[in-house]
Amino acid sequence: MEERIRVAVTVDELVLWDGSPIPPGDSAPGIVSRLCRALDEHGIEGVYGFPHTYPLTLDPGLVDVLSIWTEAGHHIGSHTHFHAPLPWISGAAYVDDIRRGEDILGEHLARAPRSYFRYAMDMSGDSEEQRGVVEDYLRANSITNAPITSWFGDFAWIAPYFRALHNNDRESVTMLRESYVSAAVFNLQSHARVARRLFGRDVPLIWLVHGSPIAGDMLGDVLSAFEQNGVEFVSLDEAMNDQSNRAMPPAAAGFHNHLDRYLIANGIEPERIPAEAVQAVMDASPLEGYASIPDVYEDAILKPIAERARGNFVWSWT
Ligand SMILES: [Zn+2]
Repeated sequence: MEERIRVAVTVDELVLWDGSPIPPGDSAPGIVSRLCRALDEHGIEGVYGFPHTYPLTLDPGLVDVLSIWTEAGHHIGSHTHFHAPLPWISGAAYVDDIRRGEDILGEHLARAPRSYFRYAMDMSGDSEEQRGVVEDYLRANSITNAPITSWFGDFAWIAPYFRALHNNDRESVTMLRESYVSAAVFNLQSHARVARRLFGRDVPLIWLVHGSPIAGDMLGDVLSAFEQNGVEFVSLDEAMNDQSNRAMPPAAAGFHNHLDRYLIANGIEPERIPAEAVQAVMDASPLEGYASIPDVYEDAILKPIAERARGNFVWSWT
């Protein structure tokens, strides 16, 4: 049905945020190895990974993920240390946090052919003034912002997938794996359509997936499904040659990516995965203490990030 869709794959969080539940027997190095294998099987080379660095300071062994990633021929970009979204802290504090992350990534960052940065959650901050402080830093250091123009809320599967595996609930594991792939395809097609409408031409999309256990298990299936739907994989550099990815749409408060900000500025609503389908994922295979939003995404992950970064936790899921 679709015309050609050019997609640059990017991977955030080679180690997930502290507080993310990992199924028994799995680990960040194992996940990253599986991601590398899936990329290799699809002939996708030189992928930029954007790891925030706080988790690397908790367990020195986790630094191995950077070597696994770069030795497979992929590259590292900068993505802050604490992963606090810009609206939570000042522009100056955000720049300090970028520097902290860059110091830890060190040689791995320096080896990348081009210096890229990705905003935590690709959130722009509430104002041009706040974002401008960060943009000034990036420009002064010849670092290019690598935005996100297609995502599918893949982090939402982290808690349910953990619960389903912990509960040995095979039916839910299957449902989560299938819905993960179908949501990725649905959103990619929706983003390609709306971008074509917005720009009047096909633009290369910059696609995000996180280094999660389910990504490790399912990235290969997602990439195969993309290919079956007319996707051609391109490098991040090629995607960044398109002005839609280099230009900056107006800053917008809230949990939005680069494409969302163009749509907001133009009053366009994208098609969304039905709310009931998202809820079915969030609620799959219950386990005491691991409810998706209140226990895991807010109490275990986001609120501690705000505390570490001395930021104001302000969050809306809509
Ligand atoms: Zn991130």
